[in-house]
Amino acid sequence: MSISLSHLTKHYAKTHAVQDVTAEIAHGSLTAILGPSGSGKSTLLKLISGLEKPDEGTVTIDGEDMTHVDPRHRDIGFCFQHYAPFRHMNLAQNVAFGLKVRKRPKKEIDVRVSELLALVKLEGKAKSFPAQLSGGERQRMALARALAIEPRVLLLDEPFGALDAVVRAELRHWLKELHGQLHVTTVLVTDQQEAMEVADQLIVMRAGRVVQSGNPLALYESPATDFVHEFLGPSTIFEGEVTRPHDLELVSVHQGQVKGRITSIVSLGFEAQVTVELSDGTSTWVQLSRNEFSAMGLRVAHLVGVRRREDVDA
Ligand code: ADP
Ligand code: MG
Repeated sequence: MSISLSHLTKHYAKTHAVQDVTAEIAHGSLTAILGPSGSGKSTLLKLISGLEKPDEGTVTIDGEDMTHVDPRHRDIGFCFQHYAPFRHMNLAQNVAFGLKVRKRPKKEIDVRVSELLALVKLEGKAKSFPAQLSGGERQRMALARALAIEPRVLLLDEPFGALDAVVRAELRHWLKELHGQLHVTTVLVTDQQEAMEVADQLIVMRAGRVVQSGNPLALYESPATDFVHEFLGPSTIFEGEVTRPHDLELVSVHQGQVKGRITSIVSLGFEAQVTVELSDGTSTWVQLSRNEFSAMGLRVAHLVGVRRREDVDA
């Protein structure tokens, strides 16, 4: 189901949480909303869900104006960072809850719950209570619960934000796989790394407005503003321009137009980050592969030349 957001605006007293947001979310896409804290991501998700009403603008789902439709009638599944399960219910009962409320037959509920538990890889845990599950398992339960009602749209607000990096990475892969199986239109609020990894469309927000949207690679390669450039990946300033550190290279001091002295080296195993103080007093950092780095035998205080990699072809 496609979603069209048209001129959405939401104020809280003096705060302009969302300002004149217009965006298209394609049917079956996995769209990530990203931006700094307070940029209006959660508010935008609440406007799509109907948990908040816009001051102005419309939310259209599959051609139908849903702006004034109650959240219960929007066919949307939600999952938030701090999902609060029913603690007195086991996993299967938690997942079944939405179906019970909708008065589906018991037989149908049982079948659907086992399907969902298999989908989120929690088959063996049906009788466990939330307190007996790990953080990652609880978030998978939350997703199963959101999916139980067969929503037309799935809204996820930093669903893995509270988990450690390893579990997060696992769940990220799992979410991408799950989306590949179900193709339910999904809108995910997340950070830039997760967004670049899982999403097929990005919406970048700043101060309540959309600053750029489109496919991740296009935004990474052709950011519309310095803000998007800096937000979507590592960046440094070179000759007054925001630049990706891996688009720069170090050469011998005689080869580079721009010369400088190495002030620090950070080795991260597969890469090295070399900071150079340039002759004009500014600093820039360059990302080298481990092989490039060791081939040059670089040390702090060495004099080097810095240039853009594409200069080599020129
Ligand atoms: P994000 O999810 O990007 O961090 P939010 O959408 O939660 O941002 O918030 C956007 C702005 O709106 C923030 O300045 C926040 O403080 C404000 N805001 C959000 N919800 C409310 C609310 N219920 N009442 C008052 N201000 C709010
Ligand atoms: Mg938020």
